[in-house]
Amino acid sequence: MNERDSEIMGQMLCNADYSPTEDIHQADVIVINTCSIREKAEQKVYSLLGRLKKLKQKKPDLIISVAGCVAQQEGERLQARMPLVDIVLGPQQIYCLPELVSRAAQKGKPLMAVDLSPSFEIPRYIPPSPAISRQKDDRIASTLYFKKFVTIMQGCNNFCTYCVVPYTRGRETSRKPDDILAEIEALAEQGVKEITLLGQNVNSYGKYPADSRNYKSFPELLRKVAALENIKRIRFTTSHPKDLSPELIACFADVAKLCPHFHLPVQSGSNPVLKRMNRGYTVEEYLAKVDTLRQVKPDIALTTDIIVGFPGETDKDFQATMDLLETVRYHGAFSFKYSDRPQAKAVAFDNKVAEEVKSERLSCLQQKQNEISLQKNRGYEGSIQHIMVEGQSKNGDGQWSGRTMSNIIVNFEGPAALSAGQEVQVRITEGLLHSLRGVLSL
Ligand code: SF4
Repeated sequence: MNERDSEIMGQMLCNADYSPTEDIHQADVIVINTCSIREKAEQKVYSLLGRLKKLKQKKPDLIISVAGCVAQQEGERLQARMPLVDIVLGPQQIYCLPELVSRAAQKGKPLMAVDLSPSFEIPRYIPPSPAISRQKDDRIASTLYFKKFVTIMQGCNNFCTYCVVPYTRGRETSRKPDDILAEIEALAEQGVKEITLLGQNVNSYGKYPADSRNYKSFPELLRKVAALENIKRIRFTTSHPKDLSPELIACFADVAKLCPHFHLPVQSGSNPVLKRMNRGYTVEEYLAKVDTLRQVKPDIALTTDIIVGFPGETDKDFQATMDLLETVRYHGAFSFKYSDRPQAKAVAFDNKVAEEVKSERLSCLQQKQNEISLQKNRGYEGSIQHIMVEGQSKNGDGQWSGRTMSNIIVNFEGPAALSAGQEVQVRITEGLLHSLRGVLSL
């Protein structure tokens, strides 16, 4: 979500006649986009701002903006502590950036835009900036020019007790389906082939705002996107298990462009912990959905998020999470130690788990998951995978790199004439922990 927000802010500034630079000393505007999901985000922002002080002294007209969740959380505190900051911009207000930059350039007072306005509406379409599109590996968004994120909804109403998103990004609001489709059509015309539909909880798309009665459901929206001729691959993230409907599962059976990868955050394998997290499902309900998904799409790759050491998590609770790993056998898992996030309800929970216990559990879980991921990737050996080429491999060995439909990175040997965005068949020769190796299949 932050990556897409950075891209949008970059696009808007380019359309306001700014252009990207890789030399910070050349910059007239610096936007620091922040995320507070991980610990220490605030300290990192303050430390970066500390390093920018000298630059601002040398160049008083430089406009410095802090955007994103840390900006939302810190608000006026941020400007009071760091007067060099000209603009504080919450995630719901990023579309005001060009106007605020223009006001700041006219030497106004420090500007603050941190409303969590429920009436917020994502603009129908932000024209892509040629300056950004020109960069084929698009460092501003760190995405490739043939694959793009498209925001379909913002905010979240779920209030998981460990999470700050409802406080930093506000209530759930879906974007109008016609606006989404218009943006994707425009991207397809520019050569974009792969779309990732983006939101905090995409599978509850269409429920809010209150006047969204005529919106499509998420499965209906998916089918509309799939009907666009030049779009070849569709992905989405992130989903909530409680909102995974039979209609969405059915899409994996008959929407060929829908990539067989599902990121389905489980967070814990223990029902008492899930309850305290306010996740709204039980382990049994989650596993039943996983079973149905696999019946419909046996080769689907499942990934997940797991938090270890949530307040009150006992050895038995943790063992239940380890058992769940073995039962589901995910292709991959993002796992984290629980940490208090400001404003989240769990900050006030008793029975915090000791740091060393959390570290031990995390390492145990990651070791198990690594074994499973390696086995899963070895299972691809000998198969032919349909790959979309992303570019030369990062290994710098003249190999190409791309992704399977199931979102696994493949490094492969191929002729120099290949190009990014091309679709090829690759025979997999080796499954590694985080990637696959292969050769072009003729
Ligand atoms: S579903 Fe829960 S974890 Fe995800 S954004 Fe909403 S509150 Fe946070």
